[in-house]
Amino acid sequence: MPLLRDIKGSFQPFWVTLRNMFRKPVTVQYPEQRPELPERYRARLILTRDPDGAERCVACYLCSAACPVDCISLQAAEAEDGRRYAAWFRLNFARCIFCGLCTEACPTLAIQVTADFELAGRDPLKLVYEKEDLLVDHCGRQPDYNFYRQTGIGVTAPRGGNPGESPPVDVKDLLP
Ligand code: SF4
Ligand code: SF4
Repeated sequence: MPLLRDIKGSFQPFWVTLRNMFRKPVTVQYPEQRPELPERYRARLILTRDPDGAERCVACYLCSAACPVDCISLQAAEAEDGRRYAAWFRLNFARCIFCGLCTEACPTLAIQVTADFELAGRDPLKLVYEKEDLLVDHCGRQPDYNFYRQTGIGVTAPRGGNPGESPPVDVKDLLP
């Protein structure tokens, strides 16, 4: 009956309001009250070190290739012992969407997410983080992982100089 339906429709919003008045509030009084974030929350990215204290990043560019918004750029360099590293590494947090794809792509677990979400700022240029802003002094979420030990690569000499290792191939010589 239309009259009953109208009466019910008029009282329904009041009932919803009344019911919610006695519910436990879900609002967090930030910043006085800190939110409890899930363990795998994705926020600020960091560059971690391996358990020996060396930089994990081997400048393979995979994170940069995987990033859907192109906010990672870097330049590879090679140390005297043949170990690769990032001469510079830049991450634009103003563009980052915190999808975590870069961390999935990273073969050395160098780039990792943290739960630190307090990155907001008014100046977008201040959200461009350089390597020194990203590199931390710990191993992050994987304290035992060492890429060079896991992969069996013992870099003790330049490429081709390790025992039993062939000299590097000049790809230009392979032209038909
Ligand atoms: S979290 Fe996503 S958007 Fe941010 S740097 Fe990594 S891949 Fe790019
Ligand atoms: S952070 Fe990881 S994926 Fe990115 S360049 Fe370094 S080693 Fe490669």
